[in-house]
Amino acid sequence: MRDRPIPREFTSPGGWAILAWGLSLLLAAGAMALWQQRSLTQELERESGVLNRLVSQRAGQHDAHLTALSAIASASAGPERELFLDVASTITHFYPRIDDVQLVPLDPRDPVIGTGPLAPEVADLIRDAARASTGGIALMPYPGRAHHYMMVKRSPNVPEARFGLMLGIDAEKLLDEAGVFWRRPGVVLALAMPDGRLLAGQDRPSGAVRSGRVIGSASQTLILETGLDVGWADRLPLAPAALLFAFVSLAYWTALGAWRQRTRTRAVAEQARINALESRLAHASRVNALGEMASGLTHELTQPLTAILAQAQAGKRLAAQGRGAALESVLDGTIAQARRASAILERFRDWSRPRPASAAAFDLRDAVRNVQALLAPEAASGGARIDCSVPGDPVPVRADPVEMEQAAFNLVRNAIEAVAGRPDARIAIDLRSAAGRAVLDVSDNGPGVPPGIRTVLFTPFATTREGGMGLGLALSRRLVERGGGDLDLADGAGTGATFRISIPLAGDTEEDGS
Ligand code: ADP
Repeated sequence: MRDRPIPREFTSPGGWAILAWGLSLLLAAGAMALWQQRSLTQELERESGVLNRLVSQRAGQHDAHLTALSAIASASAGPERELFLDVASTITHFYPRIDDVQLVPLDPRDPVIGTGPLAPEVADLIRDAARASTGGIALMPYPGRAHHYMMVKRSPNVPEARFGLMLGIDAEKLLDEAGVFWRRPGVVLALAMPDGRLLAGQDRPSGAVRSGRVIGSASQTLILETGLDVGWADRLPLAPAALLFAFVSLAYWTALGAWRQRTRTRAVAEQARINALESRLAHASRVNALGEMASGLTHELTQPLTAILAQAQAGKRLAAQGRGAALESVLDGTIAQARRASAILERFRDWSRPRPASAAAFDLRDAVRNVQALLAPEAASGGARIDCSVPGDPVPVRADPVEMEQAAFNLVRNAIEAVAGRPDARIAIDLRSAAGRAVLDVSDNGPGVPPGIRTVLFTPFATTREGGMGLGLALSRRLVERGGGDLDLADGAGTGATFRISIPLAGDTEEDGS
């Protein structure tokens, strides 16, 4: 007996399972990328804050140096050249980013004092800035020197100032020793003048994550720009991503396996429940048919009982005449008729008794002969004849004999009902082997299957018969399917109906060993 196959999705990883797995990996990758981007952004913010404090601190030192140098410059009536240069070169020595210190007299005729030569146009710029000063420090790019800016202060810091004091600063060195974070690939760091002119850094930050802040110095309102080009290698670092994928895959397949196991168990339990219901229904249908066949049974038993009665009376007469030898053959006849009656009753009892399912191969011819023997009386009482054609060789099929018999029985009973009342009522049962299958046709010359019911013929409760349940064909198809075969309407138009059972021959199935 075969059950409905368990759906494939419970037994092998279907396309949807792999798709869902891919989706969960994609989701995990997305979450990881977002999380990595967020933590990198936070790191950039943190490191930018630290760097800003460092640069601001360094810038603050420039103010202090300017103040000290200005004090020296204005300490005497004229600057003490040696002392000024001493202090200036100490500053440039200990603070390499300050690589130029110049004291420019506002009177162009006086000599400039400085740590290096000074271009006349730069000296003019310094003078102009000092003259224009109202006490603050002027900030400007250093003409002709890349990455440099100048801080210019008037000295002394009064309107009658005599000097312009200048510090030349290498902005790139202002960013020295910023920390390892700023050396990683994808990180961009730049320092710009307040007007946005770039002082240090190869390029402006172009990364997806960026930040720009003015450094914390009143005299040098430089802009520290930082950025981070977050690539896929940052978002999905190899080792953690591989670990995450492995974890997600393990969790996914374990959960899927558990779910499949549960669903499979349920499907098996459900199948068992349906099988039990179908068996009960099949039995109920047999018992029901038995009741309906009572008239046939009566008819069938009448003949041997009448014969027994006649023979008993004849025996009685022979005994009275003392003809013992003739009595023996009469008694043999009586025994034969009693056996026949008992065989008829046995057949009916077997028919209605629930029997355990069997999956051994059996000869389908036996089922056909039984059905014919069971239903011939009922057919005859309705004036119909059952013609039965079976091959000379066995027709072995691997199915439950009772169930196959019942399916054939239902078809023949339907045929009897279809031809009831017809003058030339005929029913044909034709069994043959063809192309590795046993084919059993049950035909009649009734009115044919009503067109309105053909599409739902094998659906439960589809009936046109008054008092019919519409379960016979649905149940029969199910029983045949359980044996691995099919049941269909082969021909049902107009001139009668032919229902066909087709089932693989047992000799052709791989597992057959008999
Ligand atoms: P029921 O006999 O209780 O109606 P079935 O499932 O056995 O249930 O049959 C369903 C319907 O199929 C019948 O009502 C009838 O209309 C149609 N049918 C079945 N067998 C035949 C047949 N041999 N000839 C014509 N119609 C048939």
